[in-house]
Amino acid sequence: MPAEPAPTPEALLASVFGFHAFRPGQEEIVRAVLAGRDTLAIMPTGGGKSLCFQLPALCLDGLTVVISPLIALMRDQVRSLREAGVTAGALTSGNTEEETEAVFEAIDAGTLKLLYIAPERLAGGGTTTLLRRAKTRLIAVDEAHCVSQWGHDFRPDYLRIGDLKRALGVPLAAFTATADEETRAEIVTRLFEGRAPATFLRGFDRPNIALAFEPKDQPRKQILDFAAARRGQSGIVYCASRAKTEQLAAALRDADHPACHYHGGMEAEARRAVEARFQREDGLIVTATVAFGMGIDKPDIRWVAHADLPKSIESYYQEIGRAGRDGAPAETLTLYGADDIRFRRQQIDEGLAPDERKAADHGRLNALLGLAEATGCRRQRLLAYFGESSEPCGNCDLCETPPDLFDGTEAVRKALSAALRTEESYGAGHLIEILLGQSNDRIRARGHDRLPTFGVGREFSRSEWQAIFRQMQGHDLVRPDTARHGALVMTARARPILRGEESITLRRDLVRKGRATPVAKA
Ligand code: ADP
Ligand code: ZN
Repeated sequence: MPAEPAPTPEALLASVFGFHAFRPGQEEIVRAVLAGRDTLAIMPTGGGKSLCFQLPALCLDGLTVVISPLIALMRDQVRSLREAGVTAGALTSGNTEEETEAVFEAIDAGTLKLLYIAPERLAGGGTTTLLRRAKTRLIAVDEAHCVSQWGHDFRPDYLRIGDLKRALGVPLAAFTATADEETRAEIVTRLFEGRAPATFLRGFDRPNIALAFEPKDQPRKQILDFAAARRGQSGIVYCASRAKTEQLAAALRDADHPACHYHGGMEAEARRAVEARFQREDGLIVTATVAFGMGIDKPDIRWVAHADLPKSIESYYQEIGRAGRDGAPAETLTLYGADDIRFRRQQIDEGLAPDERKAADHGRLNALLGLAEATGCRRQRLLAYFGESSEPCGNCDLCETPPDLFDGTEAVRKALSAALRTEESYGAGHLIEILLGQSNDRIRARGHDRLPTFGVGREFSRSEWQAIFRQMQGHDLVRPDTARHGALVMTARARPILRGEESITLRRDLVRKGRATPVAKA
């Protein structure tokens, strides 16, 4: 039997860590570490440093030793790795005898993937021998600034790490959140013997990538128009389904673009052929699911379009980040509609993840919806999510054309009240009929023509109400209950608006656009 192919880093990202996408910086760092390079990564706290050594550790054949100064943090990481099915252990002063015994056994059995040790361990001579016997392939150093004598956290034992690296002859990946230029130089001297490692510095902004979102209006035409305006340039269109990648590729070819599709359902050979052609050929368009990922390393992708809303803000940023790696201007467009929002929520709700992960996934989707319905600079909002503050960018659709805003409080309160008076049991389509006072059999059968909200929303047309409902979902004021055919349920965020304690600003340009977006039927 042929051996199982080793899982890709992206597959492990999902199966072990439960993440849909890399956060800014992670992918590049993982690549460098897996390529066997010495690396230094400076990432803000909460940026996701641990993944950058945990994921490579799982891909490497052998052990990764993690040096970390904080016992509580080590134990925490070991616990969550074990919960995810990874063989990990720690050697710390807080260990019980059994714990230490188990670590040695796993080393002897050759099953240990990650070993956390405190720097003090390096003082005794035995550790180097142990790590050599354990087939150590990578040294990861957390809180690498502790090697700096001038910093606030100096740990003398960190100075021994350089010796360990020399003794083992393996690459070293160092991580820290705080490193001014002097500290960085000191890290390089002491951990890397002065040879410059691949360095990843915070500042995850990719200012050459223009950002734009559009509500779905005539989605196929929107994508074809976008591609037509960029004829001859290499681009990717991400789609939410395999079928759509095939349909869109055909539509693009009909419009005389060189285009092919790519998804996980294709034979490995066919996939590789597309990857190779994309790499080699100028101006090819690939319509793809997210399976078109880490394998592509093409610097001059000039545009990325999303024919459907991505899964999360992380997925969005990773996918658009494939454009313009050469630093030259690149453009992006993301389409979204009420159906997308419902689809993504449903995907989360129906998944097998534990409840807390589902809640986190809804949060990541909300962050993306907030970006889609943003009223000010998109990049500012995007970077803020990843922990960086910035000025308005001048390179997004909202900076270019400031949107026409209006106080939507009154409209939103009417809509919420229609939902509440019908026990939050209906989708936008039915609620809009109530707001417009459209009497029909369905409405009369339920007595909805006698509601006080019946006909109170005639100042807007049906399609305008659809845009308002979509923005309400974007602001997470209502969520479709996927177990009840998309019935809209109010969230806690909506209550202060309903009570008149808060107001809400909506985009009039999106409301006045006036074309129908598909809305859930109840
Ligand atoms: P740091 O060590 O940089 O402060 P952590 O490694 O503890 O940050 O990660 C911070 C948080 O980000 C954790 O809750 C982690 O689960 C989450 N996280 C890390 N990578 C991703 C990702 N690719 N997608 C979503 N969440 C992530
Ligand atoms: Zn901007």
